[in-house]
This record gives sequence, C-alpha cells and structure tokens, in this order.
Amino acid sequence: MNSERTLILGGGISGLACALRLAGAGRKVTLVEGSDRLGGLGAFFEHEGRTFEKFYHCMLPSDGPLLALLDSLGLTPEIYWKPSTFAYAGAGRIFPLNTPLDLLRFAPLPFADRIRVGLTGLWGRLCSDKGLDDLSTVDWLTRLSGRRAFETFWKPMLEAKFGDRHQDVPALWFWTRFNREKGESKGEVKGYIRGGYKRIIERAAERLRELGVEIRLGESIQSADLDENGSPFVITARGREDAARLLITLPWPGLAQVTGPRLRQAAQVPDWGIDFQGVVNHLLFLKRPLTPHYWLATPESQFPFDGVVETSALTDESDRGTGRHVVYLTKYLHRDDPRFAQPAEEIHRPWFAALQRLFPDLAESDVEAAHTFRAPYVEPVYTRGFLKRRPPEVLVPGKVFLATTAQVYPVVTSWNGSVIQAGRTVDAMLL
Ligand SMILES: Cc1cc2nc3c(=O)[nH]c(=O)nc-3n(C[C@H](O)[C@H](O)[C@H](O)COP(=O)(O)OP(=O)(O)OC[C@H]3O[C@@H](n4cnc5c(N)ncnc54)[C@H](O)[C@@H]3O)c2cc1C
Repeated sequence: MNSERTLILGGGISGLACALRLAGAGRKVTLVEGSDRLGGLGAFFEHEGRTFEKFYHCMLPSDGPLLALLDSLGLTPEIYWKPSTFAYAGAGRIFPLNTPLDLLRFAPLPFADRIRVGLTGLWGRLCSDKGLDDLSTVDWLTRLSGRRAFETFWKPMLEAKFGDRHQDVPALWFWTRFNREKGESKGEVKGYIRGGYKRIIERAAERLRELGVEIRLGESIQSADLDENGSPFVITARGREDAARLLITLPWPGLAQVTGPRLRQAAQVPDWGIDFQGVVNHLLFLKRPLTPHYWLATPESQFPFDGVVETSALTDESDRGTGRHVVYLTKYLHRDDPRFAQPAEEIHRPWFAALQRLFPDLAESDVEAAHTFRAPYVEPVYTRGFLKRRPPEVLVPGKVFLATTAQVYPVVTSWNGSVIQAGRTVDAMLL
C-alpha cells in the first residue's frame, strides 16, 4: 500500500506521456502494462537485427505536442522528414493524387466531379467546424461533392478506417483530417525517427526510470474499482493493489470490461458502450519496391485490403536494411468479423494474389518474409454528436482519471492526439 502513489494503467504512448508529465511534476508514479513491452499500438518486433513497427507509424509536421515531447527527450536530431505521396488504384491503374493537376487528370471521376472534389478539399480547409459534430461525413461530403464523387472518391477513405461502420461518422472527424494531413503549404512531408519507434519508447522508459518511475510489465489489470471507503484499487495476477490515484489509459472497450461496480457507478460517463474498430496489418519485407508512394488506396472490392502502405518510401535504408522494402497491407475490421481472426497463412495467399493483380511482375520470390499483426481496439467508432459521448478526464474527483483514445476526438487518433489528451488529463489532475 502506498498512499501517495499514482498508478498508471497501460504503457502505450498515452501511459508514457502521462507518466512523463506527472513524474516530471514530482509525483510518485508506478506504470503497469499488461503485455511484455511498452509502446501499445506503436510496439515493434525484431527482424534480422533491426526493429519494425507492427503497424505502420509516422509523424506529421502538424504533430506539435508530440514533437515537443520528443524534443524534451532529446530526440529531435533523430527525426527525419521526407516528401510523401498518395495514390489511388482504379481499373488496374495507379493514379497519383497529390496536386491539383493530379486531380484534374483523375480518370475514375468525370471532369465536373474532379472540380467539385477539388473545391470540397479547399472548403474543408477553410470552413469553420461549427455544427459538423452533428452532421454525418456522408451527408456533408455528398452535399459538397455530389453522390457520384462521394461514392468513388470520399467513401473509400472513410471505409478504409471504419469499414461498414462509416455511415454515421461525424463530419467533424473528416474536417480534422483535412486539416491535419494537408496542413503543409510546400507539399506533404512525413517524419520518421532513426532507429524506429523503438527509439522513442526506450528513451521514454529510460527517462521515466531516471525520474524514479517504477515500470512493471506483464501485469494485466483484471479489475479496477473503489473500495467501501471510496479509495481506488486494482486487481492483477499479483493480487490487490491500492493507490492514492489511478490514471487509466487502457483502450475503452478493455477498460469497460475491467471497471468494477463501484467505480462504474461513481464515474460520470455518458456512454460505456463506445465501440472500437480493429485492424489487420499484413507486413511484407520485399526485395523490390512497389511504388514511390507512401500510401496507395485500393478501394475496389477485388482487394481484401484497403490500402498498401509502403513505409520504405519514407524510411532510410539504415533503418530497414540495404535493398529491403517494407509494405503493409492494411484492413480495418471489427474484432467480431470472421476475417479479423483468420490465420496468417489464410491471409497471405489471397492478399498477395490481389497485390499481384495490381503489380503483375511481383513474384513470391520477391518476398523476403511476411508477418501478420492484429489489434482489436484501434479507432473509436464515432457517431454523430460524439462530443456529447466523449468520456471525461476525471472519473472520480481526486481519485480516478482517464487518458484514452476515446477522448482524443475530434483530433485524429494518433500519437500526437494521445499526447494532447495526456496533457489535458494531467492538467486536470494537477489542478
Ligand atoms: C495500423 C495503425 C496505423 C497507425 N498509424 C499511425 C501513425 O502513422 N501515426 C500516429 O501517430 N499514430 C498512428 N496510429 C495510432 C496510434 O498507434 C494510436 O493512436 C496510439 O498508439 C494509441 O495509444 P494509447 O496509449 O492510447 O493506446 P494503446 O497503444 O492501445 O496502448 C494501450 C496499452 O494498454 C495496455 N493494456 C490493455 N489492456 C490492459 C490491461 N487489462 N492491463 C494492463 N495493460 C493493458 C496495452 O497492452 C497497451 O500497451 C496507428 C495505429 C494503427 C493500428
């Protein structure tokens, strides 16, 4: 029992960012992570002496709070930036889509629709966000671009994140994406860090230890609750553990499962039922590149994945190996969808065959290795009026606090979004 201690639950970027802020403010902190590694969705694995993210990750110049945190860890000199491009696969062709001229040449849309899409993009960056939380993206973009352009151009981007749950996503979410990803006037650039995200995670852990934070791995929280005096405690495989304060950063559906009855009753939560979309990433180490584009959207139903993310378009050879190219085939799926649990070998054959339809000269002998990764809780399934459902920072005043992805909205789900949320929650704690 430690009456002064804050117990942080979860060691993804949310938990790490909260721990850095709190310990930096002189608080006594213990961080408890259920898996055997820190980093959450930004976690990595080893391949031939290098590490790679299980799920593609990069930074944007507009990620100010994340970049400031990395700077405080002395990592700014390790971050590098490269131009990054987007393309769209349609009718067996690849259409780059990065400039107004690319859009004017975008054959899958009739000419008049190309103009409307261009004007929609422009308007999305200029208009106010007022009222957009209560309007669906489908209605907003259909109104601005027309039904045909919505179906061909915008809908695939929504489906790429939410699958069949895209219908009710508020326009505010899409508005934020317009403004995050196209925030650069000199063309789009993306950032990566020498040594990969492992570098960030390990540097953060090192700083936390310097600040006296106890980090415990492999300790899954089975229950978080309040005792009869209203004091917080958790149950792990080690037994019951009391703390002066809990700061919970677990993904919302997981948190809803472990929240005990007293905490559930005391917490002012508008909606415990916020659902999450999951993701499957099939990662290919290739001996050849596919395209120069970081992101290739594959919206046609012949593709079992929504996009081809070629991170080697962004990363230096020193970070991936000479002649090695890294491609993630990505599909957002709900954890209840049977495709979510498909064995890796059942994924590889059809997904690779679909990729070969797009790149007929791609051979199995070009594949050095393949890995499949799944995450059940990635993106909240947003619905209209989500601002009213957003969970609060303070669950029980002075005792239980929350910093989790379900609160990041309308900021895009990202490491930057989590750092912003961590700041809000710790501010509420330190008041
Ligand atoms: C495919 C994909 C691509 C992405 N691309 C980018 C990108 O390019 N740039 C970007 O900034 N972001 C990207 N993201 C988003 C980013 O990874 C997340 O927004 C961010 O990692 C969320 O951090 P978090 O700490 O809130 O949650 P998580 O990373 O989910 O961490 C939660 C932690 O809690 C732990 N935990 C869960 N249950 C328990 C329990 N019962 N007991 C103890 N511990 C528990 C988990 O093991 C985990 O470590 C991407 C995500 C995915 C999946």
